[in-house]
Amino acid sequence: MSKSKSSESVKVVVRCRPMNEKERAANFERVVSVDVKLGQVAVRNPRGASAHEHPKVFTFDSVYDWNSKQLDLYDETFRPLVDSVLLGFNGTIFAYGQTGTGKTYTMEGVRNDPERRGVIPNSFEHIFTHISRSQNQQYLVRASYLEIYQEEIRDLLSRDQSRRLELKERPDTGVYVKDLSSFVTKSVREIEHVMNVGNQNRSVGATNMNEHSSRSHAIFVITIECSELGPDGENHIRVGKLNLVDLAGSERQTKTGAQGERLKEATKINLSLSALGNVISALVDGKSTHIPYRDSKLTRLLQDSLGGNARTVMVANIGPASYNLEETLTTLRYSNRAKNIKNKPRINEDPKDALLREFQEEIARLKEQLEKRSGKKKKKRRRRKFGEAGEELDDDAEEEEDDDDDDDEDGVDGDKNNADYWREQQEKLEKERKAIMEDHSLVAEEKQRLLREKEKKMDDLHREKEALEMLASKVKAMESKLLVGGKNIVDHTNEQQRILEQKRHEIAEQKRREREMQQEMECRDEETLELKETYSSLQQEVDIKTKKLKKLFAKLQAVKAEIHDVQEDHIKERQELEQTQNELTRELKLKHLIIENFIPLEEKNKIVVRATFDEEDDTWKMRPITRIQDDQQMMSRPVSAVGYRRPLSQHARMAMMMRPDARYRAENILMLELDLPSRTTKEYEEPVIAPKVAAALEDALREEDEIQVDASGGFSKKPKSGRPKTGKKASTPTAAHSPSGSGSPLYPQSRGLVPK
Ligand code: ADP
Ligand code: MG
Repeated sequence: MSKSKSSESVKVVVRCRPMNEKERAANFERVVSVDVKLGQVAVRNPRGASAHEHPKVFTFDSVYDWNSKQLDLYDETFRPLVDSVLLGFNGTIFAYGQTGTGKTYTMEGVRNDPERRGVIPNSFEHIFTHISRSQNQQYLVRASYLEIYQEEIRDLLSRDQSRRLELKERPDTGVYVKDLSSFVTKSVREIEHVMNVGNQNRSVGATNMNEHSSRSHAIFVITIECSELGPDGENHIRVGKLNLVDLAGSERQTKTGAQGERLKEATKINLSLSALGNVISALVDGKSTHIPYRDSKLTRLLQDSLGGNARTVMVANIGPASYNLEETLTTLRYSNRAKNIKNKPRINEDPKDALLREFQEEIARLKEQLEKRSGKKKKKRRRRKFGEAGEELDDDAEEEEDDDDDDDEDGVDGDKNNADYWREQQEKLEKERKAIMEDHSLVAEEKQRLLREKEKKMDDLHREKEALEMLASKVKAMESKLLVGGKNIVDHTNEQQRILEQKRHEIAEQKRREREMQQEMECRDEETLELKETYSSLQQEVDIKTKKLKKLFAKLQAVKAEIHDVQEDHIKERQELEQTQNELTRELKLKHLIIENFIPLEEKNKIVVRATFDEEDDTWKMRPITRIQDDQQMMSRPVSAVGYRRPLSQHARMAMMMRPDARYRAENILMLELDLPSRTTKEYEEPVIAPKVAAALEDALREEDEIQVDASGGFSKKPKSGRPKTGKKASTPTAAHSPSGSGSPLYPQSRGLVPK
């Protein structure tokens, strides 16, 4: 899928800025000397025992002194890198160094001065010029701008500047920033605008711009996708990504009493930079199997640029004055190590996430739709022309026989024809409508119907026209984002400029080769000296050998001094780390004190259970308390409490059963005996009656009809039933009458209840 290339080293160049006004005014001594031809930087210590202390010399791919021009730097060092990005390689430019040594000057420079513009604006010019000169290629260029401050990523192009972005990883495309906005740009002006917006946002978020910029990393990303017809007749897409990185100041964080927030900040800023250092060390020492990319956002994001699939240039910026000596040496040592990083760049061909492919497919789909719709129309108008959408892509099949004239003309012509067609159609319909209106032979109803029909047709026509226009404009908008070269326009100034650039490029190449040869010669010098020597006399031999000895001795001393310095540095760094550790431990102890003494154990445990460490974000997070969990806690009751209102121990339950002691009673603590009220009624007892009275009563209660009255005086009575009937009849003797109906009033007589 991708053409692999042998590995190549990270290119490291050093740039020393001029003394500034203040330094000149204060008469600072210059301690840095730069040998541009040899690619060497020498630093001497003015305070050391200068008699036998030699300057420390470092050799790099190229070095630039205070007179260096931005454009020279670009042509010699950055142009080849951007060229390879245009070919589909990944490329990265780091600006490393102490604050105030010219990182931002190198990357951005002075915006409105073409002479002093930095790499970023120069690369814009370079990229779009290249595209305009290309042939048979389609390009899509987009830009993103982000910042890492205190291990937080901010999208400098987003509206919401308070939002923090996350790093994500996908197996196919690697590490990326989730939701990072990117803008498709069609010209230098547009991409410059993107940069300016980002720069403005950068300072908006900062309370103190100087401090902020010296402590944050800014990364401008340009992605260039290029589609070209391959020899296999298929379109192939190559994607090059250019990272332009303005790193935070590399100076040691001054110990500012490191308290609370300050300390937190200090440890965090150091993180990305020190992780960068650690990654470099791990990459070059040849022994490490683990490269700590994951230790910081910066190293994760730029993993490919360090030992991976990218071409990388590091610009180490230094200051010339004596008071910067230590930082200058640190920067030089740091970048000296970076020289040994080996990258394995390759052309990224047909990656899955190419936006250009999506664009092309979408355009093809829209065009097909357009074609379908206009096809309908074409039939109607037979040999009429329609050529709106096809003006950019002249080799499109859909233009076929109709397109026999020039592209540009076709566009205008097509538009005109198109408009004519719509007008014609409308007029035709209008005319037909009128004809119907005036046609008196039609019945009114029929007329109405026809009119409605015509109106509907007109509506449809209108809608169709709008839809087509929308589609066409969509296609146009999308196509305008795909950049194509200037085809066959022969532009003389352009051509001359190109030749000039070519020449400049050649000169730069020449210089580079010279430098390499010089460096090699220097190396060989000593060896050849040894080989070719034949001594004419003993004295000469002694002389020469003494000279050589001296030279070697000096070298040995230099190496020893270097070792000493590095050790000193190491010790200092270690001490600082120990100090930081002590401070952190002290703070930790305080936190412990507070937790142990003022936070209930139960609460602490709850928090400990809820807390989880997020490796991605490098932070502790609290798991949310979910409702469900809550409910479950509420529902499940302790086992000991089944059947009781509250938890009870086994002992309590036993004790409760054994003794009626209220001590273990969970419920019904009071024992209540009910006091039943005493009885106030008696059982019924029959009254005692004398036998005579009883008999009389018996009689009295007998049914009245059973009484036979005998008017003759005597009476006899025979009750039909033996059962005496009690009832009202007994009490109404007046109602008694004789069934014989003799008519004579009969008065009841004494029945002889009471014997007389
Ligand atoms: P940094 O970004 O490393 O903190 P700057 O790029 O802001 O440093 O540079 C600090 C100052 O030095 C700026 O005013 C800049 O114009 C000036 N400067 C840096 N490098 C050069 C250079 N090579 N030539 C001229 N001026 C420079
Ligand atoms: Mg800066």
